[in-house]
Amino acid sequence: MQESPKIPIGISACLLGEEVRFNGGHKRSRICLNALAQVFEYRSYCPEVAIGMGVPRETIRLEGELEAPRVVGSKTPGLDVTDELYEYGRRVAAESEDLSGYILMKDSPSCGLYSTKVYRNGHPLPGKHQGMFVRGFRAENPLLPMEEEGRLNDPVLKENFVALVHVYDDWRRHFKPDPSPRALVAFHSRYKFLVMAHSQKAYRELGQIVAEAGAPGFEARVEAYFEALMGVLQKPANRKGHVNALYHILGYLKESVDGDARQDISRMIDSYREGHVNLSVPATLLNHYIQRVGSDYINEQAYLRPYSEALGLRNAI
Ligand code: SF4
Repeated sequence: MQESPKIPIGISACLLGEEVRFNGGHKRSRICLNALAQVFEYRSYCPEVAIGMGVPRETIRLEGELEAPRVVGSKTPGLDVTDELYEYGRRVAAESEDLSGYILMKDSPSCGLYSTKVYRNGHPLPGKHQGMFVRGFRAENPLLPMEEEGRLNDPVLKENFVALVHVYDDWRRHFKPDPSPRALVAFHSRYKFLVMAHSQKAYRELGQIVAEAGAPGFEARVEAYFEALMGVLQKPANRKGHVNALYHILGYLKESVDGDARQDISRMIDSYREGHVNLSVPATLLNHYIQRVGSDYINEQAYLRPYSEALGLRNAI
């Protein structure tokens, strides 16, 4: 698979070191600016500055009902920027169809994805929720891969987010401009083993949708397919799932690689299963043989090379 150009993704501006926080500070992110900048091209957005709140500014928070809170001033309850933030989120989503992912700042009443508190009468309610910009963005584009920067410190979540962004990007750039039953079959073919690593059940269900690609109702089928695909890939694959995918790929070397080499690969897969080595060990060994003697079909599997190897993400999981 060829190296891709950098993938455009949105990011909370403070994570790039822009001094846009309420107090004039920033939250410069080493992960985003060092490792991930190798593959991502960032578009920064600060929703609170964009709606005219300025820097420095009064802090705001979510207040009221969990499902439909208002965004009000922490000291000035009369300051209500709910509609502005929500509409700005919708607008950014609608105007940024070329984005393939988004990294967000945690805890923020605007940018939080999983971590924002909602208050009632000045006291935090249980649970963590989405900020108002994210709520607006999600209403317009519910499938774009989004992640909080803090969670990217977890190697499994980071690896999964980067892989998910690459899948979305492939769909956006290669399938969406010219959708057809044939293109859907070709797209799905590339991701079979990636899906298998995440879920056997989804592997069967997605295969079923694609098997009927040529039947009437293609547009609805495409929507159902992509929604289900993004849903299953959202949750990281576990070790058992990876082992399953690796063994299935090894099966494609039955005719072309001698028994000793297959046993070596099998031993490495088992070492990974037992937690003695990380995923890059059996995956690299398999890749080595697949690239030399594998068929076009197996060589094109995104599971084998889901993103630039230089990121080294499979060295940590
Ligand atoms: S968290 Fe979002 S709204 Fe707050 S400073 Fe960062 S980019 Fe701006």
